[in-house]
Amino acid sequence: MKVIILLGAPGSGKGVTGKKVAPDSGYIHISTGDMLREAVESETAVGREVASFMMHGELVPDDIMARIVEDRLDCRDRNDSYMLDGFPRTVAQADLLEEGLVRRHGEILYVFFFDAPREVLIERLSGRRLCRKCGTNYHIVNMLSKREGVCDVCGGELYQRSDDREATIENRLEVYNQQTESLISLYEKQDLLVRIDSSRTVELIAEDILKVLKNG
Ligand code: AMP
Repeated sequence: MKVIILLGAPGSGKGVTGKKVAPDSGYIHISTGDMLREAVESETAVGREVASFMMHGELVPDDIMARIVEDRLDCRDRNDSYMLDGFPRTVAQADLLEEGLVRRHGEILYVFFFDAPREVLIERLSGRRLCRKCGTNYHIVNMLSKREGVCDVCGGELYQRSDDREATIENRLEVYNQQTESLISLYEKQDLLVRIDSSRTVELIAEDILKVLKNG
């Protein structure tokens, strides 16, 4: 099992880039944020457990995350190569992943660190809109839909994630600084970290990642 990790603050572009890169990369894109939002939306047992953490921009507890990710990695896909977007987010989750990979004879090949200044993160998060039906990303300034409030791809309704409101954004960035940022040096020490300037367009970020995956 081969794993690459997309690491970065909320709004750094991990999700959009992951969805763009995955089809050409041979890696299966797994976004823990998307998985959790689906669980909340469908009101599953896990969804009910995690809803309040997500609403307030807090991290879901590590034991719940471990269960979700372990289950996902065990639905073995043919090529067994995964792009983890938004996991791990704590040192405990990084340890759990490491143990899980040892058991599965797997390894982390690269950790792409999406590096962008705070102003860019806030601007992206506060203007982000998503399609309720197909999940396509828009932005009220940088990436408008042709018709206001309507998805270009499927005609679905555009909405703002409840955790993309101003007060929650501040908390999510604080949580990132407190609980996730230390993973940068952890993976740097393991010589796995590839720093990407993610203040640029998704096309340029995707290009950089594909280049690394192709040439090493
Ligand atoms: P994201 O879509 O990656 O911004 O994630 C949205 C929310 O899901 C986060 O603010 C957390 O509440 C939760 N979440 C996603 N991934 C994780 C994780 N690895 N650990 C804990 N909580 C997570």
